[in-house]
Amino acid sequence: MDSAVIKKYHFTEEEEKKLILREYRALLKGLKQRLKKGTRKLVRRAFEISVDAHKEMRRKSGEPYIMHPLAVARIVVEEIGLGVTSTICALLHDTVEDTEITLEDIEQEFGKNYAKIIDGLTKISHVVDLKSDTTEQAENFRKILLTLAEDPRVILIKLADRLHNMRTLDSMTREKQLKVSSETSYIYAPLAHRLGLYEIKSELEDLALKYTQPEVYAEIAQGLKETKRERSKYINEFIKPIKDELQNAGFEFDIYGRPKAIHSIWNKMRTKHVTFDEVFDLFAIRIILDSPSEKEKEDCWKVYSIVTNNYHPSIERLRDWVSVPKGNGYEALHTTVMGPAGKWVEVQIRTKRMNEIAEKGLAAHWKYKEGNTNPQESKLDAWLQHLRDILSSPDSDTLDFLQDFKLDLFTEEIYVYTPTGEMRVLPKNATALDFAFDIHSELGARCIGAKVNHKLVPISHLLNSGDQLEIISSSKQKPSEDWLSFVTTAKAKSRIKYYLKEEKRKKAELGKETLIRKLNNLGVSLTPHNINELCLYFKKPSSLDLFYAFSVGAIDIKELKEFAVHGDKLSQPIREVKLDTKLLVHEEDVIKQKPSKGAELIIFGESSDNIKYKLAQCCQPIPGDDVFGFVTSGEGLKIHRTDCPNASQLLANFGHRVVKTKWAKNKEISFLSGVKIIGLDDVGVIQKITNIISGVLKMNMRSLSIESKDGVFEGDIMVYVHDRDELDDLCTELLKLNGISKVERLEVQE
Ligand code: MN
Repeated sequence: MDSAVIKKYHFTEEEEKKLILREYRALLKGLKQRLKKGTRKLVRRAFEISVDAHKEMRRKSGEPYIMHPLAVARIVVEEIGLGVTSTICALLHDTVEDTEITLEDIEQEFGKNYAKIIDGLTKISHVVDLKSDTTEQAENFRKILLTLAEDPRVILIKLADRLHNMRTLDSMTREKQLKVSSETSYIYAPLAHRLGLYEIKSELEDLALKYTQPEVYAEIAQGLKETKRERSKYINEFIKPIKDELQNAGFEFDIYGRPKAIHSIWNKMRTKHVTFDEVFDLFAIRIILDSPSEKEKEDCWKVYSIVTNNYHPSIERLRDWVSVPKGNGYEALHTTVMGPAGKWVEVQIRTKRMNEIAEKGLAAHWKYKEGNTNPQESKLDAWLQHLRDILSSPDSDTLDFLQDFKLDLFTEEIYVYTPTGEMRVLPKNATALDFAFDIHSELGARCIGAKVNHKLVPISHLLNSGDQLEIISSSKQKPSEDWLSFVTTAKAKSRIKYYLKEEKRKKAELGKETLIRKLNNLGVSLTPHNINELCLYFKKPSSLDLFYAFSVGAIDIKELKEFAVHGDKLSQPIREVKLDTKLLVHEEDVIKQKPSKGAELIIFGESSDNIKYKLAQCCQPIPGDDVFGFVTSGEGLKIHRTDCPNASQLLANFGHRVVKTKWAKNKEISFLSGVKIIGLDDVGVIQKITNIISGVLKMNMRSLSIESKDGVFEGDIMVYVHDRDELDDLCTELLKLNGISKVERLEVQE
């Protein structure tokens, strides 16, 4: 930010000061009722500290940096509805990260509570700003959720921070825009959704779309603009009779039509494969009632009745979130009715309180918490508790976790009951087993069946809203792999995976012991090198998988004998060419040059000298082959061919250990390689072959073995070549011989 290029921004210092003060006053104005005695001073102090700490910094747009924390604080107050503590933390949110201010300073000035929130904010920005491959993003997400479970204010301020950054993303580079936008739609928008911050969620999604798909965004925005007049006319016509009737009935209310968010229109176009003109519900009608809390529900239904007196409703599209609020606290009645000109129109009916919750979500819950025993409170608390549960699950596979969790974020909900009548919210498609895990993870693990509405059902039974369940369990029951196919909740999935992993770990321990014993017999121990060799040979992605395979008998322990032993090291069995003495005609001494040393390989991004590597025995690469480097745990860099039989397994499981490599041109060093040759047995064929290799091509041959059966012979030839071209030449020349039907590179391992 210090390297900002000032382009369109040009204010004098005086003007800047005025701008800053204007923002600050606006912030105080928004806080007004929430500013009690003494707290105004604290806000002032936070403002001053922040101004001073950021005084040398500017944003990419050129404006003074302090404008950012001020804007974030305003979002926190005006759009999320938080109070003084959050305002102060928003003002200070970037100080510890970017300036000289320390957490201790903040603690001294404001107290422990504040320092804790700022600490959370600093940690989040640390994790989020790192490189963003998927695993890392997943890990970030998990960390963000952890802080959420600690103090939701951290995540709310972070959302405000992100919203302001998205609103001002214009001045960033294209690359940064893409990165920030995808992170926003990947993490922050779903989170805002889950917390019930619908306004912020749609704005984040719209902005992300604007930067990731500018053309799509512009097209829809333009479409909305062009159809605005027509739409207003229709909305007025639709509203008129309802408005009159509501007034006659004595309601205090607001009624208006509201265009849907660009992102959600785009979603419709995409999922339903329709054009902009074909999206019928470009807007929804909202009726906001001013109702006393004891009459809320009754009034909403009265309004529903007035709406449906005028327009015919679609029964399937009635949503009653007044009687049973959504998991994130959302309350409203939604209905879709047939409007003028045969158009379906969605009508949303809410009270003022419900509307505030719809817009401000979590924060509004807090506001209404005092003296209100609305069930939504406990539901949100339950959700946070649920979150803590999942997060505390020791299963460390974050990517999996993220997938499951994201599914949880978006799915529709069903409501089911315990035998005592306690309501549980589960995602649609949840099964009896999900329910068991939801009650308690031990109950889930021991579940053998359930009674749904007093009828016995299997654990895979799909639940419906309104079902009442009793779980039947047995101490002998254990989770199994197939359970994963019929649970949907993140909690059940992560618990089952954890049990399975534990089970596997226990078995693997046994396998490890057996393996150690067997290796001892061979005179070697279980070193990282040996583990590595075994994993590669048996194609196991990890030592755990290797031990497990030995334990359950998936690998025959006898196969160990095939390994060569050098000192304390195992090495993989090379299918040595069988030397048939009768047919053996030529065997050169082993060439002195060792193929595993030298600098004939360039490793990108590093100086090409002094890099130690070995050529993998499994595919024996030579210069000219497409290769990649693989960082082994015991032996440094190993070079494999990209078409090596082990390649896909290595690339898929250990992508992070792969190094790009390329051969340098070098004709001084020879590499051992081989060809397989098949042809008709013919007198003198061996003579012809050796003549080509040693005479014509002047190559050094190490061995030649030929087996002949029923007039057909198969030969393996090992030669030293400088590169791939030479090997190809050899193949071409050999193919020209009479009676030779096939020549191919010899693969050590099939
Ligand atoms: Mn910030």
